[in-house]
Amino acid sequence: MSDGKVLFENALLFDGTGSEPFVGSFGVDGAAVGVVEEGPSLGEREEWRGAERVDLKGYTVIPGLIDCHVHLTSPWNSGDHEPYWKLVTSPSLKALTTAANANRCLRAGFTTVRNCGGTSWNLPEDVAARQAIGAGLCIGPRIWASAGGISMTGGHGDRAYPAYMIAHPELGCGVVAADGPDGCLKAVRERIKYGADFIKIYTTGGVSTPGDGPCAENFTLQELRAIVSEAHLHGKRVATHAQGLAGIRNAVEAGVDTVEHGSFLDEETASIMAEKGIALVTTLRVFTAILERGAGYPNPEALAKAMLVAEKQQQALKIARAGGVTIAFGTDSSQSIPNGKNAVELTSLVKLGFSPREALLMATRDAARALGLDDGLGTLVPGKSADFLVVRGNPLEDITLLEDEKNIRAVVLGGKAKIMRDEAGEEHQSQAFSVRALSRALMG
Ligand SMILES: [Zn+2]
Repeated sequence: MSDGKVLFENALLFDGTGSEPFVGSFGVDGAAVGVVEEGPSLGEREEWRGAERVDLKGYTVIPGLIDCHVHLTSPWNSGDHEPYWKLVTSPSLKALTTAANANRCLRAGFTTVRNCGGTSWNLPEDVAARQAIGAGLCIGPRIWASAGGISMTGGHGDRAYPAYMIAHPELGCGVVAADGPDGCLKAVRERIKYGADFIKIYTTGGVSTPGDGPCAENFTLQELRAIVSEAHLHGKRVATHAQGLAGIRNAVEAGVDTVEHGSFLDEETASIMAEKGIALVTTLRVFTAILERGAGYPNPEALAKAMLVAEKQQQALKIARAGGVTIAFGTDSSQSIPNGKNAVELTSLVKLGFSPREALLMATRDAARALGLDDGLGTLVPGKSADFLVVRGNPLEDITLLEDEKNIRAVVLGGKAKIMRDEAGEEHQSQAFSVRALSRALMG
């Protein structure tokens, strides 16, 4: 599918705007959506004369999915112990792993992923992967890169490795330690220098780092204000890892843009988040996946802490929904949810009581809003980027369809079909398929 005009007709359309799905047709003009209309065909129109046509009868089209919380620089094998893997893996292999994990997300229908830390301090692999994809060296989603997270000394992430290794930032321990308003301001500027699209911080302890607790506060309010004001000065949003209530409150007061996990959220804080337009990013599955692995999970301390937060996070989501907080989709993909299996989180949300429609809105419109990318992404409407999936069956009736890649027959990013699967489920990748190849694959 090269540049030019293509009409996709007769699909069940879920456009991500919040309206009910409808049988409709849409036109793609280069990289953007040109027209969307109800009805099985757009008919003859002057401005679309000569456009190629693809009949999508029997398919559902949804906007490309957005995962607001992935970790791309992580091991292939879920049996690996992540800190060990990071220490023994060369920066170059980490960069290749990052690109490969990003490719897995795209093949699973995620056309945009926000990488929430976990890269080497001075060699951010997420930025490298973003550049490689942008240069056409490899096929992948849009990567919104953190270039590594910022923690306080001894905070979440910073205690993941023995203290003497802090002197070796190139090992890729995942976070930069920063202290005091001036130190925090400098850390933000450094992340921007290295190519960050947004700033990832940690305002509480968490589950995976040894020795810290999910409710421990990280950073003072003064430090947080320095981080947020400096990031916003440069047009960068701030995402904070926050489990305990005090750390959520501090972050919300300082004016962050998204709260990740948010396990101990209460009604009062939810109402402030709704008022300020701060989104909550769900990561339900990551903790329940640790619980399911039970004694087999390589980090017993994390297992104990996951028990503490898993149920709390489920309650937090319900509090957020009741309080009108924007809820954006995230998985914390790495070990517990492998990259490429991101859609299992959609199923977890539906199991918790959200409708498939609500879950899909979190992963499209609301995720784009949370990232500040809703000008161009998240909904299938004229003027926005032509990022969409052609899905066999109707995921609004059965959300689990999206867990099986074979049901995603085409992944289109910026008007270019990058991934295509034929009737037998065989997958093909290209920088851009021809419309004829796409039609042939879909129609058998
Ligand atoms: Zn994370």
